[in-house]
Amino acid sequence: MIYTITLNPAIDRLVFLEEPLAKRKNNRAREIRYDIGGKGTHGSYAMSKLKVANLALGFAGEQNFAKFTQILAEKAISHQFLAVPDCATRESIILIDPDNLGSAMVTEPSLKVSVKEKQSLLTFLAEHLKPEDMVLVAGSQPEGFELADLKELLTVIQKAGSFLACDLSDEALQLAVELAVDFIKPNEFEIEALIDGQQTIEEKLADLAEKITCIVASRGSKGCLCYYGGNQYKVTAPKVSEINDTGAGDCFVGSFLATFYQTQDIEASLKMASACAASKVQHEDSSFFDVTEANQLIHSVEIQIEEENYAISNRKSSPS
Ligand code: ATP
Ligand code: MG
Repeated sequence: MIYTITLNPAIDRLVFLEEPLAKRKNNRAREIRYDIGGKGTHGSYAMSKLKVANLALGFAGEQNFAKFTQILAEKAISHQFLAVPDCATRESIILIDPDNLGSAMVTEPSLKVSVKEKQSLLTFLAEHLKPEDMVLVAGSQPEGFELADLKELLTVIQKAGSFLACDLSDEALQLAVELAVDFIKPNEFEIEALIDGQQTIEEKLADLAEKITCIVASRGSKGCLCYYGGNQYKVTAPKVSEINDTGAGDCFVGSFLATFYQTQDIEASLKMASACAASKVQHEDSSFFDVTEANQLIHSVEIQIEEENYAISNRKSSPS
């Protein structure tokens, strides 16, 4: 089974404006749509669209729990979120100008979790996880969920022996690296934040590859670099006309993990993920992609295996 964990979800209210956003004016909306924000649920959405069974877990506020789970159900995402009493899942209001002129986003403060809810999540995982399972922990942490709590969560998953994938940023990503999780997908900004001193990006990635089973460094329309099994894979993304690249990373991670879980085939997984993400950027929604379109785009994903045993030869030639 694959589990995704979204600790700090949001209800995205997408407001499509009739005219460009203006101050001191009543801005009229032509359409409102809802989506779930929070990266793990987007991963679940991609997995579910590829027909790979998974369960979305995390915390959600009790006050708007029905609205939250209704959106998950509409998106055919199997879920089992823990209800946090006396609070609501935050809403993000995304004001979208017509003709793809850009958007403005306003996000409410996050919910606040207590010791009891944190413990319930840990207990659920300890009772259910098996070594053959895969877990994706993605997105930010809510109020009350400290870095030490994240460490406890990741450690429980590692103790169960499940494959642990993390799509995290800042000190949470740093922690995932220190704990040597099985998969990370930093984007260009997240990689730069990990680098200390004079290292180049490729040197840093080769270093990380010594302890992390699979690293995908995503580079937007340029594709990605993957380090797995001692090899470096340089992946060129299909050329498409981009409408909205928000969520490309989440779509990539969900479709990559779904394919990798089923096949253990790194090249097939990189191709499928690149194709699904390239489909996603052609749609204005931050999670939607078209599987038929992805199955066509897959033929234009190119993979170059740059150097065999890259990580190993890099380690041998290192002066330290
Ligand atoms: P987000 O946080 O918004 O989900 P990200 O910054 O984590 O995204 P990116 O590096 O922007 O992730 O993109 C992830 C992957 O999506 C890329 O490696 C690439 O395969 C694909 N992708 C992104 N933008 C484009 C694009 N314009 N054309 C084709 N593929 C794209
Ligand atoms: Mg990302």
